[in-house]
Amino acid sequence: MQPDTRVVHTEVPALTSRPLSVPLYQTSGFSFDDLDAFADGMTRPDGAFVYSRLGNPTVRALEDAVAGLEGGTAALATSSGMGAINAVLLANLKAGDHVIAQRALYGGTLALLRDLEERWGVAVTYVGGHDPEEVRAALRPRTRVLYLETIANPTGHVSDLPALGAAVGPDVLVVVDNTFASPLLCRPIEHGADVVVHSTTKYLGGHSDVTGGVAVFADPDRYRSTWHHAVELGVTPDPFAAWLTIRGLRTLALRVRKHEQNAGVLARRLAAHPAVRVVHWPGLDAHPSHAVASRFLDGYGSAFSFDLADVEKGRKFVTGLVLVRLAPSLGGTETLVLHPASTSHRQLDEDQLNANGITGGTIRLSVGIEDADDLWQDIEQALGR
Ligand code: PLP
Repeated sequence: MQPDTRVVHTEVPALTSRPLSVPLYQTSGFSFDDLDAFADGMTRPDGAFVYSRLGNPTVRALEDAVAGLEGGTAALATSSGMGAINAVLLANLKAGDHVIAQRALYGGTLALLRDLEERWGVAVTYVGGHDPEEVRAALRPRTRVLYLETIANPTGHVSDLPALGAAVGPDVLVVVDNTFASPLLCRPIEHGADVVVHSTTKYLGGHSDVTGGVAVFADPDRYRSTWHHAVELGVTPDPFAAWLTIRGLRTLALRVRKHEQNAGVLARRLAAHPAVRVVHWPGLDAHPSHAVASRFLDGYGSAFSFDLADVEKGRKFVTGLVLVRLAPSLGGTETLVLHPASTSHRQLDEDQLNANGITGGTIRLSVGIEDADDLWQDIEQALGR
């Protein structure tokens, strides 16, 4: 062969051993000797790998890992958490259907639900998420989805998953965003959920270096039908993003333990500080979700909020921090702070902010894995400003 041909055709070596870490299959497609296998792979998620928008071995390794952690039968990795939420809702709802959703949800999810209502004719009823009777009363003949978060952002409200799932019965798809808990603190499928979604951008990736999402399914048929929709939507991830997430996942257990330990120290010190009105960490006895959280979570999470007197105090605090960075997102190794009313929940009007328990003085912390005393020193000096 001539050099012009040789440079194009680098061969993939055949292996007689297995790599210790998951290889990065940074390829958009796969070649075939058999035309039928090629055609078959395009029609189902469990056929041969054909084209990376439909499936990729690195992405599949991530999907299998998270499905195993969550106790599901299969998972669908996506390019963001919102990609997973969109794929699940769009694949499982039609115009005229009805959704029951918890009032305190991630701002992006609330914006999507509003869009589904206004533009796509899906009705949505919001509930507090405490009371199975309220959920039962909201049921309609076309109710298809009950949408909850395990630990709500930013108030730390913990849904009573078994009671709420039982209230809607087996015909309604129970979808739970488990981002704030991670599968180490809660596995919603064990408590009756049908689909679990994550922003893997957060704890699963864990290093603030990758954007991704995943949806885990209890039922393999639901997985297959959602896969068909997700590949049409084009929300499947790039292999490198999946590879970074797998790398992060390896230390999830160590990180979650340290995050949680630090969160407990900071939440208790904040609760005792005179400038702080209330701390919304479900690990505190006084938190309204403390009893529910203690019943079926293996920890209380490490992203939580607390209230200062007003918006002025809130602004002074977030800009007075030095070690703790003012930034979006959560679940990374470094401690981050944000002001929900002006950033993560900016899409909400006054009523929705109130319903979500967010005031102008509400501050959200994503507690990292640094030394807790170093973090407290920074927080204490910023509270004194
Ligand atoms: N779900 C929760 C609870 C979140 O906090 C976020 C983002 O902050 C998302 C979903 C959306 O995830 P992503 O930003 O990866 O699309």
